[in-house]
Parts: sequence; structure tokens; C-alpha cells
Amino acid sequence: MSANDCLFCKIIAGDIPAEIIYRDDQVLAFRDINPRAPIHVLVIPQKHVDSLASVTEEQRDIMGKIMIVAREIAAAEGLSESGYRAVINVGLDGGQTISHLHLHLLGGRTLHWPPG
Ligand code: AMP
Ligand code: ZN
Repeated sequence: MSANDCLFCKIIAGDIPAEIIYRDDQVLAFRDINPRAPIHVLVIPQKHVDSLASVTEEQRDIMGKIMIVAREIAAAEGLSESGYRAVINVGLDGGQTISHLHLHLLGGRTLHWPPG
């Protein structure tokens, strides 16, 4: 998918509204429109990347940044003690429906394992 047609790129550009809770020059985080847990936040790179499967060695730093931002948001949302889950769905079998890499941060209830 090209960045032009990408829903999350449109959220980054401000063309589609979202409840944005964190933004810096590389990363954006916003609340999922269809939350699967009391806290459900998506953390995305601002530069379009289709999926974890297409991440290159040059994107090592941004992947680390996404994880650190997820940890900071989890702490800010009061999840550090109770715990949470950080998930990246990849491709068809992984359940990825939007082709812009995103990390799901889920918490606020006991999450089951394994996922369905
Ligand atoms: P995935 O299935 O891993 O690709 O996750 C895509 C996520 O994006 C789903 O959890 C959707 O609920 C969420 N989503 C879709 N459209 C929007 C939107 N406009 N704003 C916020 N989250 C969205
Ligand atoms: Zn995109």
C-alpha cells in the first residue's frame, strides 16, 4: 500500500481525526477506535512502513523508539504494576488489517494467552 492511501498516514497528517496521546518527530500514538481492552493504544512510526515484515536494518532505531514510547505510555496510563501487552500483528495470519506498522498497547484487564 502506498502512503497516499494509508489510513494511519492520514491520521499523522491530521486529515482523519484521532485521539492522539503522544507525538514526537518520529512516532505517533493514539487510542484505538475499537478498543479491545480498557486501555488500547496504537504506537506507529510517522514514516510509512507497511509491516514488521518490511522493516530494514536502517529502521532499527525507530523500532526501539516505538517500544520505549509504548513503555512510557503504559506507565502514564497506570499499567506498570498491573501489566499489559505490546503486540505487533503481521500480515494475514497475524491479523494485520492496516498496512502501516503499528504496535498495540493493551491493558486494564487480564489478557488471555494464547490469543485466538
Ligand atoms: P490490526 O488489525 O493489527 O491491523 O490493527 C488495526 C487497528 O486499527 C484495529 O485495532 C482498529 O480498531 C484500529 N483502527 C482502525 N481505524 C482506526 C481509526 N480511524 N482510528 C483509530 N484506530 C483505528
Ligand atoms: Zn501509512
